[in-house]
Amino acid sequence: MRTVPGRTDHVVVVGAGLAGLSAALHLLGAGRRVTVLERDGTPGGRAGRLDLGGYRLDTGPTVLTMPELLDEALSAVGSSLREHVELVPLHPAYRAEFADGSAIDVHTDAEAMEAEVRRVAGPVEAAGYARLRAWLTRLYRAEIDRFIGANFDSPLDLAGPALAKLAALGGFGRLGPAIGRFVRDERLRRIFSFQALYAGVAPERALAAYGVIAYMDTVAGVWFPKGGMRAVPDALAAAASGAGAKFHYDTTVTRLERTGERVTAVHTADGERIACDAVVLTPELHTSYRLLGHTSRRPVALRYSPSAVVLHAGSTGSWPRLAHHTISFGREWGRTFTEIIDAGVPMSDPSLLITRPTASDPGLAPDGRQLYFVLAPCPNLRAGPLDWARIGPRYRDELVAVLEARGLTGFGAGIEAEHLVTPADWAAMGHAAGTPFAVAHTFAQTGPFRPANLVGGVANAVLAGCGTTPGVGVPPVVISGRLAAQRITG
Ligand SMILES: Cc1cc2nc3c(=O)[nH]c(=O)nc-3n(C[C@H](O)[C@H](O)[C@H](O)COP(=O)(O)OP(=O)(O)OC[C@H]3O[C@@H](n4cnc5c(N)ncnc54)[C@H](O)[C@@H]3O)c2cc1C
Repeated sequence: MRTVPGRTDHVVVVGAGLAGLSAALHLLGAGRRVTVLERDGTPGGRAGRLDLGGYRLDTGPTVLTMPELLDEALSAVGSSLREHVELVPLHPAYRAEFADGSAIDVHTDAEAMEAEVRRVAGPVEAAGYARLRAWLTRLYRAEIDRFIGANFDSPLDLAGPALAKLAALGGFGRLGPAIGRFVRDERLRRIFSFQALYAGVAPERALAAYGVIAYMDTVAGVWFPKGGMRAVPDALAAAASGAGAKFHYDTTVTRLERTGERVTAVHTADGERIACDAVVLTPELHTSYRLLGHTSRRPVALRYSPSAVVLHAGSTGSWPRLAHHTISFGREWGRTFTEIIDAGVPMSDPSLLITRPTASDPGLAPDGRQLYFVLAPCPNLRAGPLDWARIGPRYRDELVAVLEARGLTGFGAGIEAEHLVTPADWAAMGHAAGTPFAVAHTFAQTGPFRPANLVGGVANAVLAGCGTTPGVGVPPVVISGRLAAQRITG
């Protein structure tokens, strides 16, 4: 593994999102002095927060998987997740609702899920589910250390028995068909393949290797931190501070000072100069490249993931059939991906993630109220350059109408506080292509082919975060922080 040469005593980490916080913890654990510079007033980045009329909103991730990775980062400084956060395991992990009126609870417990599959689809499908679960588990074990949790210097690093094993498991086939070999029921196929969208790719086109995401949320489990997702970055930042990291919030990095191939100092918008021996950059890829003066030499332009419209609603209304996470599937499926990825138009028959965090922590809303987070995947601004400032309010009304038509009667009338986020807002936050989900996990942007965490011509800068390896989502970016730290510490 290539590492940063020379002195690395003081490392500046740019960005206190989950990747930056993870990098900071791992660097502190390896004895480095760490300064974290963050443009926002709080840690978390995309794992963001907003307080609105007594409602405590999570503006980013809601599905927390693989908390042991957070624990790993915290243990680098002798702390643990349990010391900081009360995690609630979600049962079911999701509830899936379908256009035919049926619903399936997705349990992470093997027996409970087999029983649920038997109930909705019969014994043959239940046996198929058991085989699918075993396959997802083998896939995860084959990938986690060798592919997801490893630094690559070249695609050749992949060659060897681990690659052969992944190929033998069918990891280089397509996810949709791979799932279909285990379960035939269309509803079950969706439940175990929709996660491809988290990777920014349609299930029919995603690498089967991305079944690991389905492993993470349907087998390993989904959790919710009491106090909301903000409790996670708060915990990581508190542990890093406790271990000696210096945090500068409301501090935007504007320039990197260089001497030859080395970054020697970081300059901020306030005119401060902070000398460093190495730097970890976690902003969007294009921002990090700009700071480094780097131009990508990729022959084909990067492809970005679809974006999302999120409607946050503080409400007097309560619908007990909504679990903590409910996926409301439309009748359409294949066409949905064509619309948002290829045609660049909103879903005509939307599939939605409806999260009700107050199901697990009523304290996130005023007494007797509920908090809802409705996420609608939509085209990014390159696939569909839509004028969201104009169509956003109308789309919001359409979403409310869809929810009401699907049985959440009075959803619109119950809303007493709301916040709508569209691709125009993501773009205003600096996210390329108006998507917060970074570059898609196409084959050409996966593993050693994803933008690397080392950049040619700069000896002591390492990238971390969702734009680089291994990719998008809480588990990958926490791993990316560790990978960046390992580039520095060896
Ligand atoms: C709506 C939404 C829903 C999601 N749902 C899920 C989910 O359910 N489960 C899941 O696992 N993942 C989910 N994700 C994805 C996950 O949240 C992200 O992949 C992850 O949080 C990205 O972390 P990061 O550290 O790479 O980037 P960021 O969080 O963006 O961190 C980068 C940090 O750098 C700071 N910064 C940028 N430029 C500068 C500068 N010049 N100077 C100083 N600081 C700077 C930013 O303010 C930011 O804090 C979701 C994301 C969103 C937005």
